[in-house]
Amino acid sequence: MKVTLLGTGAPPPVMDRFGPSTLIEAGTEKIVIDVGRGAAQRIWQLGIPLGGVTAVLLTHLHSDHTVGIPDLWLTGWINNRFGGRKEPFQIYGPAGTSDLMANLKKAYAWDIRTREADEKLPPQGIVVAAKDVTAGVVFERNGVKVTAFETDHGPLIKPTLGYRVDFGGHSVVLTGDTRPSDEIVKASKGVDVMIHEVAFAADELLATSEAMKRVMDHHSSPQGAGRDFARSNPKLAVYSHIALLTDGKVAAPTMEQLVIETRKTYKEPLEVGTDLMTITIGATIEVGHPAVK
Ligand SMILES: [Zn+2]
Ligand SMILES: [Zn+2]
Repeated sequence: MKVTLLGTGAPPPVMDRFGPSTLIEAGTEKIVIDVGRGAAQRIWQLGIPLGGVTAVLLTHLHSDHTVGIPDLWLTGWINNRFGGRKEPFQIYGPAGTSDLMANLKKAYAWDIRTREADEKLPPQGIVVAAKDVTAGVVFERNGVKVTAFETDHGPLIKPTLGYRVDFGGHSVVLTGDTRPSDEIVKASKGVDVMIHEVAFAADELLATSEAMKRVMDHHSSPQGAGRDFARSNPKLAVYSHIALLTDGKVAAPTMEQLVIETRKTYKEPLEVGTDLMTITIGATIEVGHPAVK
């Protein structure tokens, strides 16, 4: 099983960290969890045609996790090396996912109609097979089992899910956006790799900004994520969806500070994710650090 962090960022539109998205390759499956800004570019950077993605899973419907969907869905249908999808686009997510896709279909009706008539693209390739899911086994096929669990993204942000993917005796958990929670720890028991979100702000910023306090209340601090890691005890802990907060006046904390803060509650192997980082899970866990172009 191989995990590639396609995007490790959050809402800020920056070049070095694209929106949250993670590719999990397991046997014949190529599963993309969340489709943030730039996910399509990252997938094609790996040489994988967009039409080759076998399933999309959404943790929740916040825009930073979904704005890349029309790109993956529509560009993946184009008859070219980078596209080529001939089968329905399979997408699973919490309540609202089917609605989101039905409305995208309306929004892009002109493109779909025009390409079908003009480019003779296969009608099946643009069909959406969307399924709203809740906690439990989402699908099991080709030796890959995907299990959803509930997360805690704040009282007004529901429903939200995290996912565990099991294949060939190995496993990976992706928390999605969440505060630290018992559910995450329960779902992560015995997992090889645990990918956790994190948000971090200087005390000075939190003392002056209600908006930043609210952000922190919806996410996991480094110490909080560290506690989830320590309680779950994965072979490797990874940060992705990294939000180092700033208001433009109080500087954002550094990655070094993020690690120092995490180390107060968690001492075992930890990687701070970067875009296109690969994690190959077998008898050992190998981490690859390709340079981001
Ligand atoms: Zn969110
Ligand atoms: Zn988010």
